[in-house]
Amino acid sequence: MLSTVLLAAYLWWAMKSWIYPVAGIIGILVHEYGHVLAFNALGMGPGRIFIVPFLGGAAAPRVPADTEWKDVLSSLAGPVFGMLAAAPFYVLWLQTGRAIWLEGAWFIAAINLLNLLPAPPLDGSKALGPVLARVHPWLEKGALLLVGAAVVVWGLRQGGLPIFPILIGIAVLGHLRRGRWRPHARQLGWGAAAASLGLYLLACLLCAGSLLFFTLSMPSEAAALAAEIGPAP
Ligand SMILES: [Zn+2]
Repeated sequence: MLSTVLLAAYLWWAMKSWIYPVAGIIGILVHEYGHVLAFNALGMGPGRIFIVPFLGGAAAPRVPADTEWKDVLSSLAGPVFGMLAAAPFYVLWLQTGRAIWLEGAWFIAAINLLNLLPAPPLDGSKALGPVLARVHPWLEKGALLLVGAAVVVWGLRQGGLPIFPILIGIAVLGHLRRGRWRPHARQLGWGAAAASLGLYLLACLLCAGSLLFFTLSMPSEAAALAAEIGPAP
């Protein structure tokens, strides 16, 4: 898969360490596989995984969701299942004491948390969007466009190749031009909307909590460097 090689090369170049392409690609594949498992379990399968050059991957169902509830569940399955990919990196850190493995776990948590931002085309927008639309369709459009714009501005200010903000910008504009966003899916009831909100917040808690935990586990800069150049135990 050429695009995967391109993504890996870019991450290596941008982050100046091999752990980011390695953890990034493993993290993305496990994340997308979570979507595929959910598609198959919810009768939307067989799901397929696509690799998007430089950005990662996407999973698509064969049959689109006939209810928004299925959209919510299959969207959240990516980040939640995707966190499993951090486990082997964390175990390697515990075993070897080499901080680079912890960086890998950290990066996987960061990818999944970023994905929960409620901006199109990220998973967060598919999970939280129907909840907002339950209150009022304009609330979903307004909130997602506002978050999308904020993500674009934030992404552009980060420097580096502006691939991520450009993709968000294109997706937000694409959503603006569309009529109804989920014309064929049955709307969430109030109960399912509350459940969706709860599940979304739990997914955020899992990813943010893991990210915080990995951050707090990081040794100081000097210790990290020493672990890098020192002999492996
Ligand atoms: Zn996803």
